[in-house]
Amino acid sequence: MSDRTPSPLPKYKRVLVKLSGEVLLGSHQYGIDSTVVEAIAQKIKEVVNMGVEVAVVVGGGNIFRGISASARGMDRATADSIGMLATVMNALSLQDALERLGVFTRVLTAISMQEIAEPYIRRRAIRHLEKGRVVILAAGIGNPYFTTDTTAALRALEVKAEAILKATKVDGVYDTDPTVNPYAKKFDSLTYLEVLQKELKAMDDTAVSLCMDNHIPIIVFNLSDPDNIRKAILGQKIGTIITQGE
Ligand code: UDP
Repeated sequence: MSDRTPSPLPKYKRVLVKLSGEVLLGSHQYGIDSTVVEAIAQKIKEVVNMGVEVAVVVGGGNIFRGISASARGMDRATADSIGMLATVMNALSLQDALERLGVFTRVLTAISMQEIAEPYIRRRAIRHLEKGRVVILAAGIGNPYFTTDTTAALRALEVKAEAILKATKVDGVYDTDPTVNPYAKKFDSLTYLEVLQKELKAMDDTAVSLCMDNHIPIIVFNLSDPDNIRKAILGQKIGTIITQGE
């Protein structure tokens, strides 16, 4: 009889991980902390080795956020184009870190830039996932006035992911901002409607509505511990899970 404890089985076979730009900041004020990217890549490798298919949508807020630039007078659509290009920089950094660990990846962009990445084609993205490649989705949905949260919801539905793992810098969804209010209350679970009605800062409303209409769970968790990606995939209770409810 073997004395080896069997490895726990993943709860999800295919997930979409949303990495906001702020988690790539690490200890920096601006740009990409390569140590953080490497730690995230290592954890993605572990879950890929468990047989989980992983798509990643990367944000760009660590480099450029369209809405902030437009508040300072820049044309919003132009500012958002720059924001989308920022996400491509993050995507290429993550690809590089994964490839250095021997993980097969593809970057797919919603804005064509075929010299550096493949265009986003839904069927191709699914094919890459089936082959065990990490699919990194960049340039948002390719249109201004959207966010990478909405991109995450849309792409998760398109590639038939079973859950969205939204990695942030706080350990779940709170009733008020925990960085400002020490008495802020964390929710272990929420319904989509509660998130929308209470105007909680989980994902933007467009993203939450899309998830609600299509019944895809969102798990919001802290990526300061990169092992949380693995824990979320194993179905362990971390962060806040947002679903339809009973
Ligand atoms: N963006 C956009 N369309 C999209 C996705 C993103 O115009 O479909 C732009 C927008 O300017 C946004 C920026 O890209 O501010 C970076 O994305 P986001 O703010 O969602 O990044 P995160 O907050 O996740 O770092």
